[in-house]
Amino acid sequence: MKKINSIKFIDSLAEITRYRDREVIEQSLLKTLLEFKNDSSFRLYQVLSCEPELKLGLLAYAANDNITTAENIHHYALPQYIEDALVEVIETGKIITIESEKSNKEIQIIYPAFNANDDIFAILIQATKQSDYETQHLVHGFLRIYSNFLEMIEITKRDKLTGLLNRETLDAEITRILISNNMPNINNSPSSFERQTDSRKYKGSLKHWLCILDIDHFKAINDQYGHIYGDEILILVARLLEKSVREFDKIFRFGGEEFVILVKSYDADDALFAFERIRIVIATHQYAKISSLTISIGGTEITNQIDPRDVIEAADTALYYAKEHGRNQVHMFENLIRDNKITAKKENAIESDIEFF
Ligand code: GH3
Ligand code: MG
Ligand code: MG
Repeated sequence: MKKINSIKFIDSLAEITRYRDREVIEQSLLKTLLEFKNDSSFRLYQVLSCEPELKLGLLAYAANDNITTAENIHHYALPQYIEDALVEVIETGKIITIESEKSNKEIQIIYPAFNANDDIFAILIQATKQSDYETQHLVHGFLRIYSNFLEMIEITKRDKLTGLLNRETLDAEITRILISNNMPNINNSPSSFERQTDSRKYKGSLKHWLCILDIDHFKAINDQYGHIYGDEILILVARLLEKSVREFDKIFRFGGEEFVILVKSYDADDALFAFERIRIVIATHQYAKISSLTISIGGTEITNQIDPRDVIEAADTALYYAKEHGRNQVHMFENLIRDNKITAKKENAIESDIEFF
């Protein structure tokens, strides 16, 4: 391997740590790796789950000076010998080198990337003709810097109690969706990542939906069992929500006992089905001390609203309707309008009961 130029090395570090957007950081990591090892190709995967089976989502791919991100990557299944090696990397936490089964003498080096809990959250696969210990050390070093930096950024986006995304990131996320809705070529077809994770048949373009959910009579739980037990319930609800959505849906803690979920669905029925499933998961779980816990949900489609606040307001109006009509139920803003159960006019909209904190 050629000697590492320390100025180039420092420049690369500065480049990787210059951005705050995860996708851009990933692109800049792969760009740096290509600069140091331009005879290789690199694939960066997110580890979606390890049990019961290993599930990966391809985040970015780099080869021949080109970097392709998840939205544009065509997914193909990994050969069995690589799958087996990946399982070994996950189990041992070690870098593994395997020879390609093809006769082109290529080797694949699989590197694990650890988060602060020492869990492997990402995998880098380098395909190359030759490699030595120093090169592997360098590639792994860059991967570790990427992991540490990402961890720092992720912390600022998380709610401290539940670990869910926090309110500050929600506005940016809705804005990103509103912008992409106005650019039809960017975001309306499912990425390979989504097609891969969505077990249902690919049915055309995906749309975005938002729901606000609010725990019913949460104050009574706090009053009866104390604030600490209330906190435990909030953490448990967060974990149940994570289990009841798909990997590419996003969950936010919106306020005290209020959460927001962004889902991608092909149509309104799909979205309603997803929200209904969430309601049922919470309502049927067996809780310690309390005999039951329910949530009310208001949903809306993120389409051509001007401002993220308009999206929130629509979902909140539907949530308020759910609260007023018996709780433990899901309502969609668009359906309430269609069925003349509420009026769309702003001045007649039901006053919001959202708590800002
Ligand atoms: P509703 O069915 O109408 O939603 O009734 P509710 O009791 O859930 O709603 P309300 O808005 O009256 O009360 C929400 C409670 O959530 C009041 C507040 O003390 C509690 N809360 C807010 N944030 C936290 C928190 O971080 N931890 C705990 N334990 N409680 C919280
Ligand atoms: Mg509330
Ligand atoms: Mg409540």
